[in-house]
Amino acid sequence: MDHQLPHQKTLLKTTDNSSPHRSLCTDCGVSRTSDPKQCATACQFIQPDYKSLEIKVHGRQRSFEKADELHFGPFTNMYRASLKNPIPGAQWSGITTRIAEKLLEQGRVDAVLTMEPDTHDKWRPVPVLIDKASDMKRARGMRMGYAPLLSLIEPAKKMGYKKLAIIGIPCQIYALRSLEKSLGLEELFVIGTPCSDNTTTENFHQFLNLITPSPAEVTYLEFKANYHVEIRFQSGEVKEIPFLQLPLSDLPKDFFPLTCRTCVDYTNALSDITIGYMGGEGEQWVLTRNKKGEELLALLSDEIVLKAPGSAGKRHSAVIGFKKNVELAAGGLPLRKMPNWLRPIVSWLMPRIGPRGLEFARTRVEMKAIESVLHLRRELPSRIKHMVPSHIWELTKAYDLKPEAHEQPVKG
Ligand SMILES: Cc1cc2nc3c(=O)[nH]c(=O)nc-3n(C[C@H](O)[C@H](O)[C@H](O)COP(=O)(O)OP(=O)(O)OC[C@H]3O[C@@H](n4cnc5c(N)ncnc54)[C@H](O)[C@@H]3O)c2cc1C
Ligand code: SF4
Ligand code: SF4
Repeated sequence: MDHQLPHQKTLLKTTDNSSPHRSLCTDCGVSRTSDPKQCATACQFIQPDYKSLEIKVHGRQRSFEKADELHFGPFTNMYRASLKNPIPGAQWSGITTRIAEKLLEQGRVDAVLTMEPDTHDKWRPVPVLIDKASDMKRARGMRMGYAPLLSLIEPAKKMGYKKLAIIGIPCQIYALRSLEKSLGLEELFVIGTPCSDNTTTENFHQFLNLITPSPAEVTYLEFKANYHVEIRFQSGEVKEIPFLQLPLSDLPKDFFPLTCRTCVDYTNALSDITIGYMGGEGEQWVLTRNKKGEELLALLSDEIVLKAPGSAGKRHSAVIGFKKNVELAAGGLPLRKMPNWLRPIVSWLMPRIGPRGLEFARTRVEMKAIESVLHLRRELPSRIKHMVPSHIWELTKAYDLKPEAHEQPVKG
């Protein structure tokens, strides 16, 4: 059976040819449902209410006092993790894919809603419903860009699927949680990955062209916690480029859309389980957020190695430096003022003395919070009171970034 719905061929075409219907939109799929007006309440870029949704999903809001919840959102447990037998072709060891396979193998869900690569462009995500465990491998790996994941929920229900698992990035999961009650599903498992610095697939191709003379040969790319971008090629060659040596200044000013420069939920706080790499020091980083998340992780029982995450280094000066760069760049990509000769030395030093493990994850979350505030102040100041929740201001206040009276969060 072909698990790609006939409907999807149209979706793919539409996604390719049209830009999202409003400027702050990552085309999560809601605008393509039978009731596109739902965007008004479901969208994280319109009137988000993180506090209420955290309470609805996890039974409580993140604690501002409990270590790391302010940064990473509500969680019950946090691990550094790897599958004992990594799945070839997965982005990291494949924990995400394996959990979804298990749910299908055990009949816990009728289908998994996720993204697979477009047949003509492996970097373009295409929403897909998968109902056979052996087909989950089609979706493994990371694609740059976004596509209307949630537009397949109505077709899924028409096909009789009532128990779903959904794998998604934060802006998709925010909308999903807002609409969850009205979807009428019997079961829903939400597997989230962190997401940052996403852009359109078209822009990503531009980036690939700049970093390698053979972009068509690239099979894998990841921005790793050791401050390098890892690129793998069809030939088997693996290249690591230090962040500081990336040709960022050659990219257009609007390379990252305003959505991705200002989104405030880096760690996917509304998922049942978040599976990333930021706090994993070369392995994966897993946060279970509620009882369902614990159940999902338990599915892997002896297939996974779980360890306590480590933490080292100090983030404060790195975050201050980042803030200065964003301010100087005036809306574009952070400037790189460092002379070329110094870059290899700093690149060598950063993985050794820079923030590592959980401190690296905290660093990235704080940088993203600062970036969101500064970009919104510059480009859409009237949106700040709606889009920036109080926990983000709590993170930025250590860097002398506090809300003005007109920026106070509407939803707390
Ligand atoms: C654009 C983007 C940016 C990310 N940035 C970070 C980051 O800064 N820090 C961090 O810790 N993690 C980040 N991640 C998550 C990370 O890349 C891995 O997906 C995660 O660590 C899971 O690894 P895995 O081996 O378990 O995944 P796999 O088992 O390989 O499964 C990956 C899953 O992600 C889905 N997927 C792939 N591309 C997309 C996409 N564009 N949109 C929606 N779903 C997709 C696939 O369909 C698949 O189900 C990002 C992911 C994306 C898509
Ligand atoms: S809810 Fe989704 S489709 Fe609607 S405006 Fe927001 S991102 Fe776009
Ligand atoms: S960076 Fe934020 S807005 Fe952009 S695709 Fe990722 S979750 Fe969505």
